[in-house]
Amino acid sequence: MTNSGPAGVGPSLSEGGERSGEGATPRRKAAGAAGAGRTVLVTGGSRGIGAAACRLAAVDGWAVAVNYARDRAAADAVVAAIVGAGGQAAAFQGDVASDAEVRALFAAIDAALPPLGGLVNNAGVVDVGVRVDAMSVERLQRMFSINVFGSFYCAREAIRRMTTKADAAGPGAHAGGAIVNVSSAAAKLGGPGQYVDYAAAKGGIETFTIGLAKELAGEGIRVNAVRPGIIDTEIHASGGTPDRVREITPQLPMKRAGTADEVGEAIVWLLSERSSYTTGSVVEVTGGR
Ligand code: NAP
Repeated sequence: MTNSGPAGVGPSLSEGGERSGEGATPRRKAAGAAGAGRTVLVTGGSRGIGAAACRLAAVDGWAVAVNYARDRAAADAVVAAIVGAGGQAAAFQGDVASDAEVRALFAAIDAALPPLGGLVNNAGVVDVGVRVDAMSVERLQRMFSINVFGSFYCAREAIRRMTTKADAAGPGAHAGGAIVNVSSAAAKLGGPGQYVDYAAAKGGIETFTIGLAKELAGEGIRVNAVRPGIIDTEIHASGGTPDRVREITPQLPMKRAGTADEVGEAIVWLLSERSSYTTGSVVEVTGGR
């Protein structure tokens, strides 16, 4: 577990901050500091969709805990961009598939940043395309440990800190919060011939979202998911198909892949009070796929 050093401190970006892509919308500015005084943890926040969610959450006034597994330089770059724009962020190493590392991750965040008010279960992996009858035990264990168990471990720690239950003890403000799980269009498409294991893991994440939302609806914690389609990130190369976005683009309804920012926008909406009556939902960000 490493922390990138003293958290950057500065004013909320909700009034003057710029989004990573276009300028902040008037609606965003008028909505005020959605995360003011609270921290959101984005697992796998160092690259792709997670990095976009980190930057956009900072614009919404969240202090951001940027988690990563291996690539500290990438996480530090996300932190530097947020701090450079006047926000608050710090990077935290930790493998979400390890219960011990997740416990240590949350303890480190408790010590470095304001109380937790949000969790984005974004860290996820794919693997090379194979049929189910060729899947090894090691592959299945990695797939479900990171994509499913990791989300459970992180949610457990977040709930303990955010629940408004009267008998809540331990760290945290117990002031409620929001959890956003990152699913995939694979959950409904099934990933045949490519990664049925990944699709099934994401299907599990969607059921997890529905059940956890109902468990926590009376405790001030909303739980939702986003379901991205084909998004232009490095995950495709890690699955052995670096040209996947280019190759599949002609088959996509909008004739283009989505961007990490387009998914990040849905994530920060679900984190914010702008979605205050939304829980147990799966928000499609698939460009109609
Ligand atoms: P990405 O660019 O490959 O980034 C993955 C991130 O997860 C990195 O920050 C990585 O950190 C981190 N990570 C990987 N294993 C981890 C672990 N065990 N513990 C903690 N962090 C870990 O992926 P992405 O495309 O942004 O995908 C983000 C999420 O969206 C995933 O859940 C993915 O399944 C989902 N999604 C993506 C797409 C798409 O087309 N891109 C579509 C649907 C759903 P390191 O670099 O340090 O390893």
